[in-house]
Amino acid sequence: LTQLFRPLDMLGMVYRTVRQGMIDMGAMFRLIDTEAEVKDVPGAPALVINRPTLAFEDVVFGYEPERTILHGLSFEVPAGNHVAIVGPSGAGKSTIGRLLFRFYDPRSGRILIDGQDIARVTQASLRDKIGIVPQDSVLFNDTIGYNIAYGRDGATREDIEIAAKAAAIMPLIERLPEGFDTEVGERGLKLSGGEKQRVAIARTLVKDPPILLLDEATSALDSRTEQEILRTLRRVSEHRTTLAIAHRLSTIADADRILVLDHGRLAESGSHLELLRRDGLYAEMWARQQAEAEQGEEAA
Ligand code: ATP
Repeated sequence: LTQLFRPLDMLGMVYRTVRQGMIDMGAMFRLIDTEAEVKDVPGAPALVINRPTLAFEDVVFGYEPERTILHGLSFEVPAGNHVAIVGPSGAGKSTIGRLLFRFYDPRSGRILIDGQDIARVTQASLRDKIGIVPQDSVLFNDTIGYNIAYGRDGATREDIEIAAKAAAIMPLIERLPEGFDTEVGERGLKLSGGEKQRVAIARTLVKDPPILLLDEATSALDSRTEQEILRTLRRVSEHRTTLAIAHRLSTIADADRILVLDHGRLAESGSHLELLRRDGLYAEMWARQQAEAEQGEEAA
């Protein structure tokens, strides 16, 4: 594993300065994979956000020419709203996040942030405005302070402390022998899944982006930790335009709007209650997950 981390560290150094918008290694690898595909148009301006609205307009996309994944997808997220995307495995949920971060360009259609086509602005300015809290946060082999500060160039110790408080990791940091200067990762302290997720949240808070992309944790957090993380995320996303990619429905029931994706098409959309009343795909998924949860409790 150390061998695996060393090249990661190096890549980290190379990319850190150029791609400050990138906040997790997983995302970085996806970027490297696809780098040839997306380029800034010559003379592209920076994305300027007054009201962080978000819109997909008739977006068609496939990773390979012979297979279309999104078939003309349209939806809007008003500024400050919280929209969740749910749907069966393989429906294209994570693909939406990748397109928003412009790892790929749509085959046709447009993705607009505050009225600007994200394919026409610089990638650096786009990524600067979007914070990602990924499924599985990977930390750099460095101090916990560094891992939080990585959200933004020139973050001060005060910025780091404020973010750590909001992400509810101060109790952890206070227990560590060297506080924020404690090494984490392979060389130092091992953090639990929940603690890593909190570091990722703190990193996002330091970055302070107007738009948040939450890629829900599928990793096994115990339900108490999960509830605590959800509460923290709710606070963090309160005044930000938030797109949440959810694999479990219980975590997004309070979203302003839920989009139900099926085979790359919008099958249903509405609030949790509206969708339950509709008695369609969402209601079916909800009933199944409730039954599974009950079975789990009985087995425990
Ligand atoms: P899950 O809930 O299982 O994470 P999802 O709805 O997020 O699924 P996506 O990850 O968006 O689904 O994938 C949609 C489809 O695109 C899947 O059929 C997947 O196999 C395919 N796909 C994803 N990434 C790639 C890629 N890099 N190259 C080719 N096909 C891909």
